[in-house]
Amino acid sequence: MNDDFSEDTRPSDANSGSRKPNPPERRFNWWWIYLLFFAFILVPSFMNNFSSSKEISWQQFEKDILSRNAVDKIELVNKETAEVYIKREFAKDSAFKDVFKPSFGGGLNAGPHYSFTIGSVETFEQKLDEGEKKYNIAQAIPVTYVNKVNWFWNILGWVLPFVLIFAFWNFLLRRSGGMGMGAGGTSVFNFGKSTATLVEKQKSNVSFNDVAGLEEARQEVMEIVDFLKNPESFTKLGAKIPKGVILVGPPGTGKTLLAKAVAGEAQVPFFSISGSEFVEMFVGVGASRVRDLFKRAKEKAPCIIFIDEIDAIGRSRGKGAFLSGSNDERESTLNQLLTEMDGFGTNSGVIILAATNRADMLDPALLRAGRFDRHIYLELPNLKEREEICKVHLRPLIFDHTLDLHFLAAQTPGFSGADIANICNEAALVAARKKKDRVDKSDFLDAIDRTVAGLERKSKIISPEERKIIAYHEAGHAVVSWLLRNVDPLVKVSIIPRGKSLGAAWYLPEEKQLKSETAFTEHLCATLGGRAAEEIVFGEVSSGGLDDLEKVTKEAYMMVAYYGFNKKIGNVSFYDSTGQRDMSIQKPYSEETGRLIDEEVRKLVADAYIKTKELLKQYLDSLKQVAELLLKREVIFKEDLENILGTRNDENIDGKKVKEKITNPALA
Ligand code: ATP
Repeated sequence: MNDDFSEDTRPSDANSGSRKPNPPERRFNWWWIYLLFFAFILVPSFMNNFSSSKEISWQQFEKDILSRNAVDKIELVNKETAEVYIKREFAKDSAFKDVFKPSFGGGLNAGPHYSFTIGSVETFEQKLDEGEKKYNIAQAIPVTYVNKVNWFWNILGWVLPFVLIFAFWNFLLRRSGGMGMGAGGTSVFNFGKSTATLVEKQKSNVSFNDVAGLEEARQEVMEIVDFLKNPESFTKLGAKIPKGVILVGPPGTGKTLLAKAVAGEAQVPFFSISGSEFVEMFVGVGASRVRDLFKRAKEKAPCIIFIDEIDAIGRSRGKGAFLSGSNDERESTLNQLLTEMDGFGTNSGVIILAATNRADMLDPALLRAGRFDRHIYLELPNLKEREEICKVHLRPLIFDHTLDLHFLAAQTPGFSGADIANICNEAALVAARKKKDRVDKSDFLDAIDRTVAGLERKSKIISPEERKIIAYHEAGHAVVSWLLRNVDPLVKVSIIPRGKSLGAAWYLPEEKQLKSETAFTEHLCATLGGRAAEEIVFGEVSSGGLDDLEKVTKEAYMMVAYYGFNKKIGNVSFYDSTGQRDMSIQKPYSEETGRLIDEEVRKLVADAYIKTKELLKQYLDSLKQVAELLLKREVIFKEDLENILGTRNDENIDGKKVKEKITNPALA
């Protein structure tokens, strides 16, 4: 993906491996061909310009030349053009000075000096006779008839169509596969060549300093770099250098960044390529590119090859063939990669680093020991890591130094490194828009809201009735989630439309690795709170709960079919962590079990809905107060809910009261 590796093919003089790198390949520069071609066209016409005669009309010829008896001879070329030669004695005459100007060779221009187009030979001869008589020219002007062939334009007429077809074909090839090309780009002549970008040592400006968190991943990757730098310290004990390392993790967790840092830190050449760059519309090109990449890498060994988004070529062979037809090109590319990584040829000193966020899709042959031996899993950053990532991305910003980074990190649970980088940039944009001289806490909070829920759309037209429904819906979520212990703490509720949503409630998820059945059930209740509030207050529900229902359905199916929370289904899970099974085609359970799952899910959701409604009926006054406050202020915070419902803290008397109310038999 975002590859900003700069290309540099200069030889590295102090390559620290035992082998000296070969000098960089000299690629033939096709600009020479283009230059020669243009020279071929332009020079003759340029020369032609020098010797060319001046174009005139018959009238000018008769009046200025014939009348003075200055014509030495006339040549009729191809019965079309009359080329006029002027007598030498007129060379100094001011009227003819121009046409006698010295030609390239130095002497006077030998002619033809003038030319004009004739209608037909007969009329020309007749007119010339009449002219000679009219101006008393005693000696008839010699007229010769010649045929001249312009070989240059003739050849060009033949060659040009071929050149144009060739150029068009080349252009199409570049367009079809040449996006983001590294060295050389794609053309007819290097179509099967690898497009990997080579970063020589010390040419990447990203270092491990720019990678926050990811401590374990960093250590593993550093070890690889050490292998390449000091292979002896490992090989003397008999250890073999690993062949491949695969970085696996959700999008934006820093896989490409880590690879860039390796390029910056490793003192070895680094080839970077994206998996999709191998695949072309022609079968065999991908395999040829893989071969070429490994050939180039072996010449530069010790070195690292980085293949980003390897799932583009490494997807399980034969998978999906049933639906989409097998992809020969991708499979042959993958086969070539497998062979190169573990074939007969030795790859000593070439380590392959790959990144993907779909490890489950990869072919098992690619992941087996001997190919990608090491799997490094990158996860979404935890609180401490997010704080460190914030620090890295705050470096270029001018920000208020009283800013509490811990607080900021706490506001971004579930965010990836890329999200945090985006929020820091967004906060700077918000501050700049407000003409502030430094970025402060409120800008960061605005940026987070914007990233999570989209841009505020205050201009959206919402009728007072709809606004009331939205307020009660959001108040329903707020009240239920406030009253249930295991739901994440609420931060604020808003009825200002943002992005696609008409209102939203913000929660601060706690970073827990495990979630109990009660937590799941209470979460279902909190999600259904909006719909339940609408039914209690207005007597009917609206379409506004679509998103809630979608979440509830997914969660309920997970509880029943994956987590084994349902007594009737029992302790079984139909989850497929390998991703090898296509659930939409082939269900891993019988029809009867499928029916039972559907029944149990429906029962689970119905129970949660009844519980939610009972809770809200019990707290109807509070619900109304929260909704009215929302209608008045549009955004309300945790403190406002505390004023209405009491604090959520267990030690607090109000909290205890709340807890007592929750343990009401209706909810048990
Ligand atoms: P994808 O799987 O979508 O390709 P990725 O894991 O390769 O994503 P990167 O491209 O490495 O993600 O990360 C995107 C951006 O996020 C980086 O350029 C960087 O600004 C930021 N980022 C991600 N993780 C970190 C981190 N650990 N420290 C600092 N910045 C990070």
